Amino acid sequence: MKHTLPPLPYAYDALEPHIDSRTMEIHHTKHHQAYIDKLNAVLDKHPDLADRPVEELLLNLKSYNLPAPDQTAIRNHGGGHLNHSLFWQIMGPKKQPDKKLASDIKKAFGSVEDFKKQFTDLATTLFGSGWVWLARDDHGTLHMHQLPNQDSPYLHGHTPVIGLDVWEHAYYLKYQNRRAEYIEAWWSVLKLLP
Ligand code: MN
Repeated sequence: MKHTLPPLPYAYDALEPHIDSRTMEIHHTKHHQAYIDKLNAVLDKHPDLADRPVEELLLNLKSYNLPAPDQTAIRNHGGGHLNHSLFWQIMGPKKQPDKKLASDIKKAFGSVEDFKKQFTDLATTLFGSGWVWLARDDHGTLHMHQLPNQDSPYLHGHTPVIGLDVWEHAYYLKYQNRRAEYIEAWWSVLKLLP
């Protein structure tokens, strides 16, 4: 079965003024769709993997003994598909704070504010294209990661909880080179935390 673009759970303009409608539409219908198309193209060559969840493909990627270019394509485009699918879900026009998550963040990082500062610092200093992640290990312990490209925390055996896309395509139309302003605005549309 082919992977398909999940619908956005709100309108393209729902995150205005923090993230503009045009950016959301291009990001969802062009960038996310392109990762899905390229993932489907590489899976056409490996029908035995086509029906597996992308999480599973990334967790076990090295065990499939794929040709290196195909392994890289699944890492990049499978990661791109999964990362964006989560990104749309954790944002929203209304805050819906996750109390358990806030409590775990306090335990791991001192306070939600301290966590936001550290996460913001990683997002601001990430060189080039990539994502900053909050992810859980097998024991449920929270970790922050600064990962390049579309690398998923699943590649490291961790389950992503919060991801911030700091590729220029995520903010350039509205913020141009002002990544720090985009990051600050993004906290307003991350629905999981107050
Ligand atoms: Mn993106």
